[in-house]
Amino acid sequence: MARHEVDVVVVGGGGMGSAAAWRLAGRGADVVLLERFEPGHVRGASHGASRIFRVSYGEPVYIRLAQEAQELWRELESESGTPLLTIIGSVNHGRTPDLDLLAAAVEAAGLPGGWLTPEEAGERWPGLRYDGKVFFHPASGRLHADHAVAALQERAAALGAVVRHRSPVVSIVVKDDDSVDVITDDDVYHARRVVVAAGAWAEKLLGGLVPLPPLRVTQEQPAHFAPLRADDEWPSFGHHFDEETLAATGFLSGIYGLATPGEGIKVGFHGTGPVVDPDNRDFLPESRHVRALQDYARAWLPGVDPDAYTSISCTYTTTPTSDFVLDRVGPVVVAAGFSGHGFKFVPAVGRVLADLALTGERPDARFRLG
Ligand SMILES: Cc1cc2nc3c(=O)[nH]c(=O)nc-3n(C[C@H](O)[C@H](O)[C@H](O)COP(=O)(O)OP(=O)(O)OC[C@H]3O[C@@H](n4cnc5c(N)ncnc54)[C@H](O)[C@@H]3O)c2cc1C
Repeated sequence: MARHEVDVVVVGGGGMGSAAAWRLAGRGADVVLLERFEPGHVRGASHGASRIFRVSYGEPVYIRLAQEAQELWRELESESGTPLLTIIGSVNHGRTPDLDLLAAAVEAAGLPGGWLTPEEAGERWPGLRYDGKVFFHPASGRLHADHAVAALQERAAALGAVVRHRSPVVSIVVKDDDSVDVITDDDVYHARRVVVAAGAWAEKLLGGLVPLPPLRVTQEQPAHFAPLRADDEWPSFGHHFDEETLAATGFLSGIYGLATPGEGIKVGFHGTGPVVDPDNRDFLPESRHVRALQDYARAWLPGVDPDAYTSISCTYTTTPTSDFVLDRVGPVVVAAGFSGHGFKFVPAVGRVLADLALTGERPDARFRLG
């Protein structure tokens, strides 16, 4: 076994781990990033060409984190020369109080946003149907997930980090508060800190080392539907339903969606996939789920062909509150439970993880271990 001495080992080359390596290397730390699969793999949660970026959250703590992330996405774009974030605006609609809470939080944060009538929204975005008022948030956008992960790893390497793919970590041995061994099949990395951003594998790698909340790993299955008119403009969108409507329609949850250039209109239910073991997935969509998505498209998306779709397979790792876990126990820094809404925050989470590893500064209490 080869032995290496470094400052920080980062386990997991998805969005969160790659951002941590970028921020750590940028602050002069001696970092190695270990990813178990090949570059661009599709077995985790950070692959694909589109993720919704929005600052419009109901809670100030997430609004602040998204605002920081927006600045850091622009910094990464200028460092890497790769465009990543496209501002396209977002609309939220549906008959629930969620909308008013969202609008109030956006207004309280002094962010742009306002109400449209269904006619005004239909005029601008004819691909969607609305049956009530629509909250429009212009500062939302689309992120290119694959390009973002690649840019983060390239920049981390350019700043001195060692990025190793096909390097599964088999165990983490805590020596004391300031030293830890991270072990792969061929190497032992001795470090002051380990940042574990292992996505759906967090419980398997960290169970017993840190008091994680229950993490529910699901296989999510949104789909890309073929647009009927190439020149339709599409915002990112959220459609909220009350329990009564869900029961009456068979829809599995609220809906999110956005256009993925060259692939179609992405539409998904949120956190409704089957619970899976990340090492034993079939990557196959459930037909009941597909039918419910098609029913939604038939009823609410006049701009797509509900029978022309391509399913996507991806994992959510969800905490009981859908809040992220960002904290440190001894030499172990944890990033877990991004609950299907973490990608937009990736570079800001990277900053939080670098703080936890280098200075011990802890984030908002909302993200701390119980
Ligand atoms: C269908 C879908 C749609 C989504 N849409 C949005 C959206 O619109 N907006 C948004 O903000 N968020 C969205 N998300 C959520 C977002 O994509 C995730 O929160 C984010 O990608 C999580 O990143 P991660 O780095 O924690 O996980 P991952 O990307 O899964 O990274 C974990 C990495 O750890 C590696 N790993 C695991 N075990 C080991 C080991 N032992 N050794 C070495 N490496 C290991 C894995 O191979 C993996 O690459 C969506 C997620 C899904 C699934």
